[in-house]
Amino acid sequence: MSAPNTEAYLAPLDASKSSITIGIVGGGIGGVVTAIALGRIGYTIHLFEQAPKFAEIGAGIALGPNSLQALERLSSDLSTPILANYESVATIEEHNGLWFRFTKWDTQEEITEVRTTGKNSSVHRARFLESLLPLLPKTVTTHFASRVNKVENLPGNKVLIHTTPPHQPHPDYPSETTESGRTFEVDVCIGCDGVKSAVRGSIGLSLTYGYDVTTRVDAVVRYTGTYAYRGLLPLDKAIERTGERHILTFPIEQGTILNLVAFVSDRTAPEDQRVWNSGPWVVPVTKDQMKADFAGWDKDVLDYLDLIEKPERWALHELVPLDKWTVGRVTLLGDSAHASLPHNGAGAGQATEDAYILASLLRLPGCTAENIDKFLLAYEKFRLPRAAKQQVWALRTGEVYEMESPLGNDWDKIGENLRERYRWIWEHDLEADLKEAVEWLKAEGVVH
Ligand SMILES: Cc1cc2nc3c(=O)[nH]c(=O)nc-3n(C[C@H](O)[C@H](O)[C@H](O)COP(=O)(O)OP(=O)(O)OC[C@H]3O[C@@H](n4cnc5c(N)ncnc54)[C@H](O)[C@@H]3O)c2cc1C
Repeated sequence: MSAPNTEAYLAPLDASKSSITIGIVGGGIGGVVTAIALGRIGYTIHLFEQAPKFAEIGAGIALGPNSLQALERLSSDLSTPILANYESVATIEEHNGLWFRFTKWDTQEEITEVRTTGKNSSVHRARFLESLLPLLPKTVTTHFASRVNKVENLPGNKVLIHTTPPHQPHPDYPSETTESGRTFEVDVCIGCDGVKSAVRGSIGLSLTYGYDVTTRVDAVVRYTGTYAYRGLLPLDKAIERTGERHILTFPIEQGTILNLVAFVSDRTAPEDQRVWNSGPWVVPVTKDQMKADFAGWDKDVLDYLDLIEKPERWALHELVPLDKWTVGRVTLLGDSAHASLPHNGAGAGQATEDAYILASLLRLPGCTAENIDKFLLAYEKFRLPRAAKQQVWALRTGEVYEMESPLGNDWDKIGENLRERYRWIWEHDLEADLKEAVEWLKAEGVVH
């Protein structure tokens, strides 16, 4: 499917919102979907991205029915083809909803198939982001090479965003920034700046994460005990393996490329005492390094690892669920609010749900420069519990895959568990959340 002509979708829908300025920090999937939605509504948007251009790191992601539903609602409510553009680059599984097959590594015996009701999909992250960029409305001004170091709630309903260049080297972006320090005054700030969120740190929801990410663990970000090798290879066969290690594969790029993630876990330390002290979170690795972790595995598996082009090792960190995301006129969205292990295949999907609920609330006619902070609270109130459950659930899902859960290696129970395990994520009624949020705003006397 080719992407539709997008010129028609770039104009604001509601000119009365243009006097309200919103700063969005972070141009990943969460930030860009949010910028498209809020810009299309008519808000004046400043989007700050620390990298010199939009770019996704990492390989493929899967989006389940709940994420597709969020993209569909955003598209139809705002008359902008987010879902169509996504589908033009995604690999869609719409016939039998196969999410994955869980098989034993040695005998290839199938434990279970896990199926969604409704269609699901997978995509190369970079292609997804590229498909979204033509939809950024004219109301959105993007500031690249702009690292936000601090945001401040000011007296008088304003927020100050500081985009000072870093004075210490940053391991992920060593050559960043071309822009000298500047400040921007906005009405609202949304931190979409990922797991290491500077916005979250500066509103006191965690200690500000230092640049020395190699060893520091702040109050809420912690190493999960799992690292993962990620890479792409030109194949279309899925494999799984167990025992503190497992491998997940799924096709992207219309079935021509296989996305492979090989997980290695060490759960000897208690959950709150796991520390990553082996350097930067994301590093390139050699095939030999990767294969050493899977020494003794059967030949098929090692052959797959051999085919990966440019493998990387990711130290997987998570946020301990926060009890709030909003302080004054600053809120969080996506991984900055609820980063988790990827075992439910749901992190980016949760960001799309965030964007849908937040945009739908800020679109209400009763939302003004004076009361917009109440709408941020409604968003938090009706998104946080579900996103927090997904964070905890993801950690436990990894234990099931690697036979470290109370189910042990009882294959029947594991199969039964996996078949039902993700239903609450996929079959959620987002519309009901939105209605409840609107009812709450009515009860608070904010909308009528
Ligand atoms: C191995 C792995 C597999 C995964 N698989 C899946 C999957 O199958 N399905 C799924 O739904 N999810 C998956 N996820 C999770 C998913 O990748 C994340 O949840 C999602 O990308 C989060 O998007 P985000 O926009 O919130 O944050 P990010 O993608 O982290 O984007 C943050 C952006 O903010 C920018 N930024 C950061 N700090 C600043 C700053 N101070 N100033 C300015 N800019 C800043 C960054 O450069 C970046 O562009 C997976 C994750 C991993 C690690």
